[in-house]
Amino acid sequence: MAHRTEHTFARPVELEPGVLRVTLPLPTGPRHVHCYLLRGDEGWTLVDTGLGLMETPWEEILAALDGPVVRIFITHMHPDHVGGAEAAAEATGAPVLQGRLDYLQCERVWGSSDWPRRIADWFLVHGVPPETAEELLESGHVFADFVRFAWNPQPVEPGDDVAGWRVLATPGHADGHLCLYRDGVLIAGDTLLTPITPAIGLYPDSRPDPLGDYVSSLGLVADLAPRVSYGGHGETVSEPADRANAIAAHHEDRLGRTQAALDGGPRSGYDVSLELFGRALPPIQRRFAVAEALSHLERLVVLGRASRNEDGRSVTYTGSQPGGRETA
Ligand SMILES: [Zn+2]
Repeated sequence: MAHRTEHTFARPVELEPGVLRVTLPLPTGPRHVHCYLLRGDEGWTLVDTGLGLMETPWEEILAALDGPVVRIFITHMHPDHVGGAEAAAEATGAPVLQGRLDYLQCERVWGSSDWPRRIADWFLVHGVPPETAEELLESGHVFADFVRFAWNPQPVEPGDDVAGWRVLATPGHADGHLCLYRDGVLIAGDTLLTPITPAIGLYPDSRPDPLGDYVSSLGLVADLAPRVSYGGHGETVSEPADRANAIAAHHEDRLGRTQAALDGGPRSGYDVSLELFGRALPPIQRRFAVAEALSHLERLVVLGRASRNEDGRSVTYTGSQPGGRETA
C-alpha cells in the first residue's frame, strides 16, 4: 500500500532533479490535480493547468522557479487539466501544446454551446430517466463556463519530441490522451493513477471502444516499464508496470460483472450502471457511471460476449452466453 502524500497546494515540490509537482485544488472528485514542471535547456515545460474555476497563484509559482516557463503541454481535454490553460498561458506568455485529436474534441465539447444538449439526448437513448438527463443538461452548461482552454494551440502528435521528452499516445481515459516519457520517467496524465483508477467512459462522437483502447495503453505502459510514473491525481506510482497490470485486471473483473448484469434480458447502459454502481448517485456521478457502464458494454460487444440492440429511439444490450447457451 502506497503511503499517503500530504498535498501542499500551489508551492512547487521537487520530485527528482528537473521534475517539480504543483498541486492545485479541485471542488469535486479527487479534490486535487497535479501539474508538473520539467526542466529543459531553454526553460521549464508546464504539464497541465488545473481547472479555470479557481484563481491559480501563477506569479507565486513562477517566482519559485530558476527560469521561465517556455511551453505548456496538455495531456488531455478534461476540465481539471485543460480548464486553466488560458490563465496559465497569460501568466507565463508561453505557447500551449495540445494533441491534434485532443484539441478537436476539446473545442467540440467546451467550445460549443450545444454539447450539453447533445450529451443529455444521448443519455436518454441509453435509458437515463428524463429528469436526470435534464439535470445533466443544466449542470453541463454551468460547468462549461469554468473551462478556459487555450484556443488554437500548437498541435502535437504521438512520436513528437517535446524538450527531449517523447510524446506517447495513450487513448482510453480520453481519446486523444498523451503522456511524456524520458529516461524511465512517465508523466502519465490520467492514464496511470493510484490509488484510484481512471474513469473509462463512452461518450458521443468518440472512439467506439475506449476500454479496448485503454487496455492497449496499459499494455504499452507495462512493456515500457518506466522506473516511475507521475500522474494527474493521487500518489506517485513507483512500479508502473505492476500498476498497469493491476488496473487491467480490475477492468477484466468489471467486464465479468457487466456481463452478469445482462442476465435475464436486454438492459440499457443506465440499467447496468444501477447494477454496477448502485442507485444512490447524484446526476453528475450518474453521468460517469453510465458512461463507464457503456464502455464496458461496448467492449463486451467487441469481444462477442454481448450484442447491441438499436431501434432508433433506444439502445440496449443482451448478453451472449458462452457455449451457445442463450438463457440461464
Ligand atoms: Zn484528471
